[in-house]
Amino acid sequence: MNAVVDAVAGRLDAFEDMYLDFHQHPELSMQEDRTRAAISSRLSELGYEILEIGGGIVGILVNGEGPTVLFRADIDGLPVRESDDKEYASRAQQVNRAGEHVPVMHACGHDFHITGGLGAAEFLAEHRDLWSGTYVALFQPGEETGEGAKVMVAAGLVDAVNAATGNGRVDVALAQHVLPAPVAGHVATVVGPVFSAAATLRITFTGRGSHGSMPHLGIDPVLMGAHTVTRLNEIVSRELAPGEFGVVSVNAFHAGEAANVIPDSSELLVNIRAYSDETYEKEIAAIHRIAQAEAAASGAPAPVVEMFEDTPVVTNDAVVTARVRESLVSVLGEERVDDLVPSTASEDFSIIADAFGAPYCYWGLGGFADPAAAQPNHSPHFVPDLHPTLETGVAAAIAGVLAYLGK
Ligand code: ZN
Ligand code: ZN
Repeated sequence: MNAVVDAVAGRLDAFEDMYLDFHQHPELSMQEDRTRAAISSRLSELGYEILEIGGGIVGILVNGEGPTVLFRADIDGLPVRESDDKEYASRAQQVNRAGEHVPVMHACGHDFHITGGLGAAEFLAEHRDLWSGTYVALFQPGEETGEGAKVMVAAGLVDAVNAATGNGRVDVALAQHVLPAPVAGHVATVVGPVFSAAATLRITFTGRGSHGSMPHLGIDPVLMGAHTVTRLNEIVSRELAPGEFGVVSVNAFHAGEAANVIPDSSELLVNIRAYSDETYEKEIAAIHRIAQAEAAASGAPAPVVEMFEDTPVVTNDAVVTARVRESLVSVLGEERVDDLVPSTASEDFSIIADAFGAPYCYWGLGGFADPAAAQPNHSPHFVPDLHPTLETGVAAAIAGVLAYLGK
């Protein structure tokens, strides 16, 4: 399998150019036009059939009998002004969807994911003797806003891919993410939860406005909100079993304008996380119950509770992960494949895998020689070490795909 490491080493200058180009031309979520065009043109040169779906690109390469493997790379940047840490820092700006000029940076390392996806696409196109089956190289927009996977699926991704491959199915799905840990040059994976399920809920309480000196004539939505904030913080400590992971955070509380006016309404924004569907449902049900009960306790009408930014958990399949890990070990060596610590962050990859009904493996790609000093994803300093992160990311992508397609 060290054909993989050798092939990647032989093309390292080209991968570096590709990475630097994406790094210096990051684009905001669902506005990735230049990025999409560059990916599409490279896949076409390599002989892939191209599908443009929901702002993303899918390249398909059929190479004889065998399983169908999908590798997903997310492609969007963030509205962050990059630090001056690297001489190749992005100075890009873009007009966002609200019409504002904002700085743009690949502050989540998706430029490494794109290069990994294109590097694997190139290897597979140029080494057809080493594998058999169908490779689906999927480049997804809008991961940061939680939109891209949903938009691609809603635009008919599953039917279009199944029709193009002629197989009627995707057998396994894969993805990777560059992270502050493990150490650069290593990858890490785990069976079970990798990223948490997440959602945001907006609770709107309607009270009755009054003069601040005449509280008995009103119904105070500030007090309703305040009690609710306290009660919501008890869900994790009182309703989840000790050791069961969950987060319920009230991160915004809007009410009132003046010191002598009891306002009409108040609004809370609540963010939740969980590693299982059961915990997720329990948190959502508890939020509804508490909001209703606090409104009732105040003699107010029922509050409006709306849920949005709903992202499911990413949970690695045991069988797929064992097989992918074995392939990562055979390419990178045992000492460079670590155990991944699950993250309480969230990611929309599983929406794509689940749409195909495909079990999956997601792994972390180390980005820094000194993980203890690394800044977190989304920081203006989140610029992973170019080497060995780049070659490790490309080799890992190839290894993951060959776990199922390799001869
Ligand atoms: Zn991110
Ligand atoms: Zn990311």
